[in-house]
Order: sequence, then structure tokens, then C-alpha cells
Amino acid sequence: MKIKTLLLAAFAFLLLISCKTKTEKENFNQDHLIYATIWYQNSPETKALYYQGFNIAGERLKQYSKQKTAKPKAVVVDIDETMLNNVPFQAQEIIDNKEFSSEFWNEWSQLARAEATPGAIEFSKLCDSLGIPIFYISNRKVNEFDATLRNLDSLGFAFAKPEFIILRDNESSKKARREKVMENYEIVLLIGDNLNDFSEVFEDRSDSWGTPTVEKFKNEFGNRFIVLPNPMYGDWEKNIYPSRGMLPAQQDSARRSVLKGFK
Ligand SMILES: [Mg+2]
Repeated sequence: MKIKTLLLAAFAFLLLISCKTKTEKENFNQDHLIYATIWYQNSPETKALYYQGFNIAGERLKQYSKQKTAKPKAVVVDIDETMLNNVPFQAQEIIDNKEFSSEFWNEWSQLARAEATPGAIEFSKLCDSLGIPIFYISNRKVNEFDATLRNLDSLGFAFAKPEFIILRDNESSKKARREKVMENYEIVLLIGDNLNDFSEVFEDRSDSWGTPTVEKFKNEFGNRFIVLPNPMYGDWEKNIYPSRGMLPAQQDSARRSVLKGFK
């Protein structure tokens, strides 16, 4: 009798767990990404911001090209949402209600079908005409190297050659990869959609989302650092969620909790 009761209790517990997991899965959605993705994919303001960024980058580069430097000059750019536009992947995540995963990302990146961001190709050609190479430092993984090279090359990017593409091997910080470039070059300009694309000083976001560091380096923006827009994802997101593996409802509460109203 006792064993029967225990078995029944265990069965009820398992049923409860499986129902809970099922409900949580049903609750999962990517709706919080819809507005930012629509804006990024369709608004002419997004395109204008890219043109603005690359126009300023071009002007700065023309100035820097006249300055004397100890080493040859170079430009460092990020790839995703900087030179290549992956918004179809973002949109597909919402349409299919899928969480980000390396497998799903690979499915997209291996197609090598990302379009260029507005002004990016022209900027790469300007660098070429000034004789200043571009290093593409990206956190795409090394197994995406061929597809990434093919994607950049097919769009006509200057410096779309293996020696100028540096992907992620073992760490997400780009510090060591920038330092490798600096062994032979002076980096005069950096372009990215994530502050971590510019300097490791931005990697610590524990104090007010990293805002004090931006204040400290405010004169660099529009000069050596050119920031492009990305409201869909980035290191800024990490400040929303206090822990990993949160359930959809907890994530939703966490997002709401960081909003600051006026009451
Ligand atoms: Mg990026």
C-alpha cells in the first residue's frame, strides 16, 4: 500500500513537471523583438543612421590619412550589424518563435546571403583608395570563416581576403585580436554596433550598464569610434537579466523591471 502511494505521488509529480515545462514552452515567444526588428528592417531612419555613421567615418579617415604615424594605418570594423545586415535571421527567429541558438545562426550564416549595411561597401572602397586596410574582427566562429569570406567577397567589399578577416576562436573579447593587428598597424578608426567592438574598457557593464565609461570616452565617439545602431541585441541586453536560464515569464518581468517611468 505504501509503495503504491509513493508511486502515485511520483507519477503526479512527474506529470506536474511535464505540464509545467510544456506550459513554459507554450509561453515562450519572441514578441519583445518585434518592434526593434521592424524598425531595423524597414525604417529609413535605420538606413540614414548607417549613412551618417559611414559618412563621418569617411571624413575622419580622410583626415587621419594625412597624419603621420609610426606604423601603417588600419581600420578595424565589426561584421554583424556593422558591415553585414542579418535582420532576416532576427525576423525568422520571431516568425518561427525560436530562441537564438548556434545551430539556427549557422543555418543562416552558411547561406552567405546577408546584405551589406547602407554605406559599408562604399566605405571599404574609400579605405582601399586611401591605401588603409580594413580588418574585419568579428565574433562569428572560425567554422563560419569560408561563408563569411564568400559573403563579403560576393558583395564587393574591399579587403575581403582571408588575411583581413579575424573571427572568434576561444574568447569573445576582441582585445587580443586588436592587439595582434596593432603589432604591425596603428588602428586609426574603429566601427561597430557594440561598444565592445572599440575597446575592452567597455566590457564591464556592472556600473549603470557601463554608462560612466561612455561618459569618460565621450569625445571618442564620432572621432575614433563610430557607433552604428542595433536595438535588437548586444552586450547591453545582459543587464536586463539577473541570471541565465530564466523562464519566459521571468524574462518578461525582468524586462519590465528595468523600465523607468515617471510615477
Ligand atoms: Mg555586431
